[in-house]
Amino acid sequence: MANAHKLDCESVSDTCRFIIQSENEEEAVELAMRHMKETHGTELTEEELLNDHMQVV
Ligand SMILES: [Zn+2]
Repeated sequence: MANAHKLDCESVSDTCRFIIQSENEEEAVELAMRHMKETHGTELTEEELLNDHMQVV
C-alpha cells in the first residue's frame, strides 16, 4: 500500500482542525499550500511544507 502524505493543521494552529491526506504527493502539497495561504495567510514553499508541516503516514 502506498504511503499517504498528510497535513494535520492542528499541529500548526490551535484553532484549525483542517486535515489533508492523499496518496498523491503533488495533490497533497497543492491543497496544503492553498489552505495555508487562504486560511492562514502564510505562503510556504513545497519544500517547507514537506519538511516542516507534512507527515508520511
Ligand atoms: Zn489550517
